[in-house]
Amino acid sequence: MNTVLVIGASRGIGLELVRQYREAGDRVIATARDDAGLATLRNLGAQALRVDVADPASVSGFSWLLDGEKLDVAWYVAGVGDRATTASPPTREKFDQLMHTNAMGPMMVLPQIAPMLAERAGVFAAISSHFGSFALTETGMAALYRMSKTALNMYIRCAQHDFPEVTCLALHPGWVQTEMGGPQAPTSVAQSVASLRSTVTRAPSTPAWRGAFLNHDGTPLPW
Ligand code: NDP
Repeated sequence: MNTVLVIGASRGIGLELVRQYREAGDRVIATARDDAGLATLRNLGAQALRVDVADPASVSGFSWLLDGEKLDVAWYVAGVGDRATTASPPTREKFDQLMHTNAMGPMMVLPQIAPMLAERAGVFAAISSHFGSFALTETGMAALYRMSKTALNMYIRCAQHDFPEVTCLALHPGWVQTEMGGPQAPTSVAQSVASLRSTVTRAPSTPAWRGAFLNHDGTPLPW
């Protein structure tokens, strides 16, 4: 039985990760930021913690909530989208929300939990997006969202140097049927999560994946 942490688990990909790990008999600690999300997680048998990753006061005390746990895998899933192009400048609030949730959150969380992961040669898996890739960008759509995921990708690359006992990954989940992905997305959340879990299970024994940017199935993506 592994111990798995899922940050941003109230719905979508995070919630499905909790479902599948619980179904497999793993111990799951998961976060949400409101009562309904916390209740959903408890109903699945997860230990539920209230964390708002965009709130420095909430996220900076994260390790206190975990109280010396040992972790096999930590997933950073929390994310917000925005479809605007560079033609419409973001408000300061929008910029802060996307950058704090998508990029700053992992920077706050990983240093706190790295010792808990290191004890088990664990994996820090951040859900990124192919939208964060320079090489795959052919439109200005979702410019701020892309920037936040590019920042996340660079963070993972740097963090791998600073936390060598942990495998650090940036993972694209595919285009997935969630509130963010919409109903027209070709991939079900169950398919995406099964593929992501399989990749993360193989990661500690795949040295080429340390600090890598991968598709959900383990295929390397261009930065
Ligand atoms: P959803 O919109 O369904 O879920 C987003 C999750 O992030 C929710 O649990 C939400 O919690 C949480 N969240 C947002 N802001 C915060 C915050 N400040 N603190 C804590 N939790 C927060 O989207 P997905 O499940 O699709 O997205 C999951 C990840 O996958 C994201 O990082 C997204 O960028 C990425 N992704 C998704 C793709 C897709 O096609 N779906 C494609 C590429 C990447 P709450 O319910 O409280 O709002």
